[in-house]
Amino acid sequence: MEKKRYERPVIASLNAGITNKFGTRNLNEPISHIDGASIKEITEQYGSPVFILSERKIRQLYRDAHRAFSTRYPKVQFAWSYKTNYLNAVCNVFHQEGSWAEVVSIFEYEKALANGVEGRHILFNGPEKTESDLRKAIEHDSLIHIDHFDELYQLLEMSESLKKRPRVAIRVNMDTGIYPMWDRFGFNYESGQAWDAINKIILTNKLDLVGLHCHIGTFMLSANAYAVAAAKLADLALGIKLHHKQNIEYLDLGGGFASKNTLKGSFLPGADTIPSFDDYAEAICGTLLNAGFTRENLPMLILETGRALVDEAGFLAASVVANKRLSDGRKALVLDAGVNILFTSFWYEHKMTPVEPASHHTEASVVYGPLCMNIDVVRESVTLPPLRKNDLVLIHTVGAYNMTQWMQFIAMRPAVVMVDQEGKTHLLRRAEKTDDLNAMESMPEHLQSFSLA
Ligand SMILES: *Cc1c(COP(=O)(O)O)cnc(C)c1O
Repeated sequence: MEKKRYERPVIASLNAGITNKFGTRNLNEPISHIDGASIKEITEQYGSPVFILSERKIRQLYRDAHRAFSTRYPKVQFAWSYKTNYLNAVCNVFHQEGSWAEVVSIFEYEKALANGVEGRHILFNGPEKTESDLRKAIEHDSLIHIDHFDELYQLLEMSESLKKRPRVAIRVNMDTGIYPMWDRFGFNYESGQAWDAINKIILTNKLDLVGLHCHIGTFMLSANAYAVAAAKLADLALGIKLHHKQNIEYLDLGGGFASKNTLKGSFLPGADTIPSFDDYAEAICGTLLNAGFTRENLPMLILETGRALVDEAGFLAASVVANKRLSDGRKALVLDAGVNILFTSFWYEHKMTPVEPASHHTEASVVYGPLCMNIDVVRESVTLPPLRKNDLVLIHTVGAYNMTQWMQFIAMRPAVVMVDQEGKTHLLRRAEKTDDLNAMESMPEHLQSFSLA
């Protein structure tokens, strides 16, 4: 039998939690495998830290969301929000499931085309689309979601010169009872600005107004806000039918559903408090079905759900670099993964679990990353068993936004792997090397040499 690990005795205040007949729940049971793939073996092969994505979980989340909407509404279409996670393999899982692409920049647009998405299945959002971006989108017959009047005028001009009728929607912002209001994108509903844009498009008769779009916020904890948004978009669509005798083909309710993460300062874990896909679907579909559309002019419902479809499918495996005792007596842990690759640790309390079997004695610890920066705090306080240098820790629910907002500040971006549905591991993006950074730089002639005394 292996000799038991020595554990330094500690005196800690009781962390009561909510007791039940089994006593207090240990939330930190070790997790050694993801869909049958050993986390330890993944780190041995691809290094530490490493992002691990579960293909099975992505598909499961997508199917749950799709079922919630398609059982309540006859015409539902999801469009994958590229900026949430635009690793091509991740996008293609969504495309295989039937998702269109939703992009907010030309490089995302080009990624979607290169992944094989046809232009007419790409929704082009965002406040900045250059003339050449718009030309490309028009040539590929994509759905251009107009953000402001300057873009509208530019499209009117381009439709003349290109002799084409671009297919467009307008983005509408509105008061849904959630503050601060996201009114910097699109045309405002309450002020009549949205109507102004609609009338300009329809009466100039150079663009095809096929849709209405909104994206009311992100990590929305209120399903009711979507009912308000759906009612306002439906009101515009019905008004267009009434005044211009024209059908709106789709209403796009955007993204913003919360993932099962825990926001900082929340009392209960996110998984216990956030609305379910069924709650959001009921709010949106119920409102649209009761808005007054006939069967013939019922618009398609588009959803651009991002974080809620991928966050839970992402994990970050990291290794312990050091254990410390802070001057106030608190225990601290230094990991090899920091906030440069885990942006979401600024607003989430990510769940963390040991990878190898560990003691049931736990202690609240501060978890730091490896950066030489005071802000590099992965968790302010998390209950963990004693861990030693090189032990692995798994950080949960990191699949959304981290692999697009990461940066090579002090430490470079690590490898990303995907575990497929058979438990096989695939490399999606290799770890960066110093050469990758230097490849983009050039050295002026006069700075090429120096001599130090
Ligand atoms: C970011 C974004 C989304 C996805 O938002 P989530 O909160 O991740 O669901 C959808 N639509 C637009 C226009 C976006 O900018």
